This record gives sequence, structure tokens and C-alpha cells, in this order.
Amino acid sequence: MARLHGTNAKYHLEACRCLPCSNAAAEYDRSRRRAIAYGRWRPFVDAEPVRAHVRELGEAGIGWIRVAKLAGVSTGGVSKLLYGDGPRNLGPTRRMRPHVALALLAVEATLDNMGARVPIDGTGTRRRLQALVVKGWPQSELARRLGVGRANFGRTIVSNLIQVSTVRATRVLYDELWRVDPVNQGIPAHRANAARRTAAKRQWAPIGAWDDDTIDDPGACADWTGQCGTPEGYRAHYRLHIPACEPCRHAQADHRAQLKAA
Ligand SMILES: [Zn+2]
Ligand SMILES: [Zn+2]
Repeated sequence: MARLHGTNAKYHLEACRCLPCSNAAAEYDRSRRRAIAYGRWRPFVDAEPVRAHVRELGEAGIGWIRVAKLAGVSTGGVSKLLYGDGPRNLGPTRRMRPHVALALLAVEATLDNMGARVPIDGTGTRRRLQALVVKGWPQSELARRLGVGRANFGRTIVSNLIQVSTVRATRVLYDELWRVDPVNQGIPAHRANAARRTAAKRQWAPIGAWDDDTIDDPGACADWTGQCGTPEGYRAHYRLHIPACEPCRHAQADHRAQLKAA
């Protein structure tokens, strides 16, 4: 299950931004794009980048038969591409027709087509579940609605890597619940309050601290105040009785340093 650094898979599936992973992802991107450009005008194209792409999709839990279907090309062709064929197997395909190559290169791993059990970056899932607890949804209730055990849920809400199926289910659950008051849905008020207290103790960010662009981005920080990352944000934390977040503490330190220097 552990993916190596220096791979495109770790970059895309786990959002690892270390230098080796970033380099591997950039190189893979370049080679895929070059192959797409060649495929537009040559009668035959090199099969290697296409093979590499199909293997990358395999890393995302999309098997080659599935890839063939998604691309609308024959499974026989993809089998030859990966394994070669015939009694005198001359090895995997070296050159291929550009329309087949382009169709295969066009298939990309998305949350919808990835394998259900593939572990991927859990940033957005963690933040969604934590934000629902801030809203007063008890963890046991969220676990029940997700159909996972309480212990399993306890790990999910803090883990770095989460299975694709849970990532998908959490998005659906979040879209369903983010505007819904748990007490109106039969959750006793004292349990909703207990959930909110747990969330406050752990400094979990509320729904309003995220938007669609930031919630899945591991590089993004919660915007607690609407001005986080600025000296005004730092002051807003005090007004709102929320402990200052890291970007605000930095902004405030920079601000003070500038005042001193002036
Ligand atoms: Zn890495
Ligand atoms: Zn802040």
C-alpha cells in the first residue's frame, strides 16, 4: 500500500509535493503531452508513453480492461500493448495507430472512475467530516450514515490516506448535511453540543472556513475569519474568540516586524 516517493502516483493520488514526486509528475505530464502532440500527425506512434499511461491508470485502481472500455478501444489491443500476444510473442507493441493511442491517453483518473479501495489523499474528506462535527453532527451519527464502524470512522476523520469509496461517500454525505441542523433531524441537543465541544477542543474548522476551491487543496488553510492570513484576520480571531490560526500568527509577526523596521 505504501507508494514510493519520486512517482507520479504519489504526486497525484496522495498529493505529495516533495521534489522527487513533483519531478516525476512533471516528466510524466511532459511525455504524455508529447505523445498526444505526435499522435495528431503521424501514421504510427511510439507505444511506450501510452503503455506508461495505462500503467499509471492501473495505479489508480483502473484495470486495463476498464481502461479499454473507457477509451472505447478493443481490449485485445490494450492486452497486446501491455503483454504482447500470439504463439511467437514478440513482446509488447512498439508502435501503434494514433487514434488508439489518443483514445487511451485521453482517459484520466478521476474520483468517479478510480478503484473503490485505492488509498488517496484524505485532506478534503477529513475537513468535510470535521466541519460537520463543528456543525453539531455527532461522529457516531456520521459513521452510521457512512455505513462504517465507529473505530474506523475515528481513524478516517484524522487520516492522511483514505479509500476512494469513503472519499466519494463523504462528499455525498457532506452535500446532504452541510446546511442541515442536526437537532432538526432528531439529534438530541446535548449530543449536538457535545459534538461542537469536541470539535472546538481539536480546533476543527467550520464549513464556512472552506470553499469549493480550498477544501480539497492540501496547501490551502482554513479561512476562519474571512480575512485569515492578514493582520486584520489576527484581530478578528480575538473578536470572535477563536484561537489565532497559523497564517494569521505569521501575518501578525510580519506586520510587527515591519512596524519595528519602519
Ligand atoms: Zn513525494
Ligand atoms: Zn486566521
